[in-house]
Amino acid sequence: MPHNIGKICTSVQCARGLSAKTAFRWISAHAERTDYTFGDLDRESNRFANAITSLGVGEGDIFFTFLPKMPEQFFAFLGILKVQAVCGTLFSNFGEDALLDRLGDSGAVGIITRKSLYKKIARIRNQLPALKHIILVDGDDDQASGVISYQRIMAEASTVFEVQPTSPDTPSVLHYTSGSTGKPKGVLHRHASLGSQQPTAQHILGLSEDDIYWCTADQGWVTGTSYGIIGPWSLGVTQIHYGGGYDAQEWMNLLAQEKVTVWYSAPTALRMLMREDETIFTSANLPDLKAIYSVGEPLNPEVIAWSRRVLHHDIFDTWFQTETGAIMITNQPGREVRLGSMGKPFDGIEPAILADDGTPLPDGEQGNLCVKAGWPSMFVTYLNNESAYNSKFKNGCYYTGDTARKDSDGYYWFMGRSDDVINTAGHLISPFEVESALLEVEEIAESGVIGAPDDLLFEKVVAFVQLHGRYQPNKDLEIKIRLHVSNRASSIATPQEIIFCDSIPKNKSGKIMRRVLKARYLGEDPGDTSTLEI
Ligand code: AMP
Repeated sequence: MPHNIGKICTSVQCARGLSAKTAFRWISAHAERTDYTFGDLDRESNRFANAITSLGVGEGDIFFTFLPKMPEQFFAFLGILKVQAVCGTLFSNFGEDALLDRLGDSGAVGIITRKSLYKKIARIRNQLPALKHIILVDGDDDQASGVISYQRIMAEASTVFEVQPTSPDTPSVLHYTSGSTGKPKGVLHRHASLGSQQPTAQHILGLSEDDIYWCTADQGWVTGTSYGIIGPWSLGVTQIHYGGGYDAQEWMNLLAQEKVTVWYSAPTALRMLMREDETIFTSANLPDLKAIYSVGEPLNPEVIAWSRRVLHHDIFDTWFQTETGAIMITNQPGREVRLGSMGKPFDGIEPAILADDGTPLPDGEQGNLCVKAGWPSMFVTYLNNESAYNSKFKNGCYYTGDTARKDSDGYYWFMGRSDDVINTAGHLISPFEVESALLEVEEIAESGVIGAPDDLLFEKVVAFVQLHGRYQPNKDLEIKIRLHVSNRASSIATPQEIIFCDSIPKNKSGKIMRRVLKARYLGEDPGDTSTLEI
């Protein structure tokens, strides 16, 4: 059995006789439809592999995709893996600081993007000495600045590429994840991750060759790669990929017209649907839909109840994270769904609820959600940050950063994060990154950022801001602050609420006391403030 994920998702499927089968139907934001077979996927990813090989990109090099959902994203991702380079994916809404942190830390040699997004790269290019090749899917050659036309380089590349034997330990995919302190960390995976992604796609999502599967996640995040590319295509499953944004009516049309059988989405999107006029759903006829899955944030019981009533389906919540690479804890058809629970561990996964000192806690008690190390898709390191990686493991257990409890029947219940990371609409946001962006605004002297409960987004980003003495808060300044965070970090990190205040609480070593800010926001007792700087 070959280990190369790029090959398994393409040539291996063709060799199984699926070369004429649709690998994905591409549906643009304007509803134009184009089908790509497994044969097309194989040839186009081979071309991309040859194209970057001709540029000198090879084993171990890091190459990023920075694209919205579009066919070139998939050809590039698989082509990069075929040459045994590492594919990093970047969410297309990232701003310049977010890009600089990720491209700079990884020492990426190349990136594929489009003209409208390239502008952001051009502005930080002089700070990225390792970045030699920029491929533009809609651009012309500009050899002097290392800018290459995708059309040209693909036209010159052969559709045949011999994938070299790949070790299961060969690095494969890189996703950056946000922590509560410091810069984002590069979570590195290896080709052996397929050993978790394929069986979970098969046995949890229930995917088989007859399915039409739709995963709404963007390829910038782990769900978009593990379950929008690797898992389903390694099983020869037809996917639909949709380039448009959220639109309840369009989504229902898509589920119905494309005869989607398995749908993987996220709680915020499902909560948005729940707020829509019910006739959209009652008039939708979805006889083909077998199961709906969700990931990324807690799934409220009301959403499942709504789905049972209007869509006539359960929603199966699944839990995993960038570092785990594949679903670890899950609900699935054939097992009782306990409303509000993440479900039970997948076969071979051994979670535990541990106290900070590593002692196992009894059923019902909240503690650190840990997983016994060693599953196939376990991340192999945080790039350039081995000490942060090692700090996540104790006594052979990986500490996920989440807190949870287990009931006496073995169901796991998510309780929260053990750090200050904010989960807004399923995206992890580092308060540190937002605070850093805020401090770049001339008027701002100090800032502290927290996540506060939100009915739609699960958590919203709330920024406490202290201005330099000579400035006064006003609406224009609020707009300026929002725009700045959106341009520097990303639109999802933009504070939903900005609270101007006279001081930001810090402890004696200068650390922002977000806990105190949160209590202030929620009108709660801030607890022990003895370390507060006076
Ligand atoms: P990421 O690494 O960006 O995919 O985010 C992973 C984090 O999202 C987890 O550590 C959890 O905090 C949260 N998360 C993912 N799935 C769930 C879920 N089903 N229920 C609650 N939180 C979740």
